[in-house]
Amino acid sequence: MAKHQFQTEVNQLLQLMIHSLYSNKEIFLRELISNASDALDKLNMLHLTDEAFKGIEFDPRIDIRIDKDAKTLTVSDTGIGMNDEDLVANLGTIAKSGTKAFLENLSGDAKKDSQLIGQFGVGFYSAFMVADNIEVLTKKAGEDQAYKWVSAGDGEFEIEKAEKEGHGTEITLHIKDEENEFLDPWRIENIVKKYSNHIPFPIFMEKEEFIPAKKDDDGNEIEPERTEKKIEQINKASALWTLPKSEISDEDYKEFYSSIAHDSSEPLAWIHHKAEGAIEYTTLFYIPSKAPMDLYRVDYQPGIKLYINRVFITDDDKELMPTWLRFLRGIIDSADLPLNVSREILQSNPVMAKIRNASVKKVLSELAKMKKNDPDKYETFYKEFGNVIKEGLYSDFANREKILELLKFHTLNSEEPVDLETFLKNVDEEKKEIYYITGKMSLQMLKNSPQLEKFKAKGIDVLILNEEIDTIVFPMVTEYKEYKFVNVTDAKLEDSEEEKKKEEELSKEYKGLLTELKEALGDRVKAVEVTTELRESPVRLKIDKDDPNYMMAQMMQQMGQAGEVPPITPILQVNPEHEILKKLKDSGDQNLINDAAFVLLDEAKLYEGMELDDMPEFLMRLNRVMEKAL
Ligand code: ADP
Repeated sequence: MAKHQFQTEVNQLLQLMIHSLYSNKEIFLRELISNASDALDKLNMLHLTDEAFKGIEFDPRIDIRIDKDAKTLTVSDTGIGMNDEDLVANLGTIAKSGTKAFLENLSGDAKKDSQLIGQFGVGFYSAFMVADNIEVLTKKAGEDQAYKWVSAGDGEFEIEKAEKEGHGTEITLHIKDEENEFLDPWRIENIVKKYSNHIPFPIFMEKEEFIPAKKDDDGNEIEPERTEKKIEQINKASALWTLPKSEISDEDYKEFYSSIAHDSSEPLAWIHHKAEGAIEYTTLFYIPSKAPMDLYRVDYQPGIKLYINRVFITDDDKELMPTWLRFLRGIIDSADLPLNVSREILQSNPVMAKIRNASVKKVLSELAKMKKNDPDKYETFYKEFGNVIKEGLYSDFANREKILELLKFHTLNSEEPVDLETFLKNVDEEKKEIYYITGKMSLQMLKNSPQLEKFKAKGIDVLILNEEIDTIVFPMVTEYKEYKFVNVTDAKLEDSEEEKKKEEELSKEYKGLLTELKEALGDRVKAVEVTTELRESPVRLKIDKDDPNYMMAQMMQQMGQAGEVPPITPILQVNPEHEILKKLKDSGDQNLINDAAFVLLDEAKLYEGMELDDMPEFLMRLNRVMEKAL
């Protein structure tokens, strides 16, 4: 017999489960049945495709047994089973990044944390919520030795060699005294129907049937009352997605979601589609109502299961659907793929590619429908997943327009976010330019950027893109239909002849000051120049788009290396109509001009949401300028 320690994270999870106020304990059964179903899926595939497994006897089923005297509940399956190495790896550690993310998210507040568990599948370990001791007796298909894993969920587990007839896994829970409701067959049957009615394998349960006493016509008992044991199938065992839609109730869809997504909250929406034609396939996609916890992790767990003609193939392939739809849960089933398909072949398989493309289009069109017909629901969707679908703007060129149509934008002139269709109503139909500003800062700050002053003065609306993902994605979005996307810093709003003349005159008038400011700032700026585009702000920064460093930076960003961008020296533009500049021009105080140059440059940086290189110096200069003003 060998003793093993649980991985730290497992202990953390167990402690939490055992001691938290978790109110939805019954889901442990859903988790065990789901594991059993996965084990059957795996063997089913090997049985059909792998010579070594073709000869084995395979009668796929799950059995539930209750022993009231021994106070045990047993869930057994005839699936793939585990050997001793599998046991250590699977039932001693946590591999899934989602579970790790879940643990990182814990607050220590039992009430909050138990709500988190509710949104989250916790797998095998959840059985310790109702059992104080668990035995796993298992034999791997194709191997001779069986093993028994035992634990009280208190930090360690033991594994020993054991005897077992046939392959598969039998999990025996020693039910805690206070949880004996889970020894009631009626209760168990209801839980199975609630969460596992539509897993594709039959679940049997031993039930006691009450047979009343037999009496003759005079009322004398001929046979006493008794109970008889009978084994009955208690679930429908029909792969839900294969049924006609008309036979599936909303409850059925929700129950199936809960069993495949391990999520106790209801899905936001589902899309069930049967394609008939050159390629036949069925898809059932769910949109969760909350973002999965590993959504932004590189090692996120994909949510799509691939079946070939109802035979489970994989649930671990990130290529089945594009990453910008990685929040989807569900299944793809097609009879037109070869059953013994390997993962590499799958990825380059033209049938798979067609299914994938058509599925993406289907999901996009369903989202567009939701946006139109059920704005409240769409808002929930957008809040959770809006930023994820934006990723599709740079990775999925073919669907760019459709994705853009799903987005909601803050704009300079509107209170509430609007979609592109609404925004375009106010776009100049001759220029056909969609102006936008990006920046990783608050909406309010971005709206107050000096870059927008000329737009404000002319009443032109601008998209305000202040999410981090926007700053990465939008520089690559160049057009929508016949419209061009133009960054405000690149926008050339028609300047009247008069304005141009004015700018030239002012440049002459300010020549002396401009030179002094440039001298004071040295290499910190490329140039100091006059602009007539500012209204309220005294200064702003301008980036010279022909600067080789700028072009380099754009390239780095496109290659996803935004961290290594070379420094870009900006141009400082000043507003000659502003009182500060007017007074500086006539001041003649060299020290003041010197300090003002630095303060104004830093101010321009702050408008851009940049950090100051030397905050104490900025404050010192600001104080000196103020002293002079008083
Ligand atoms: P998950 O099922 O989400 O991966 P679990 O903690 O529920 O996480 O299970 C961990 C692993 O243990 C499974 O991925 C599987 O490899 C293995 N396992 C659990 N139950 C069974 C079973 N009945 N038969 C075979 N393997 C199982």
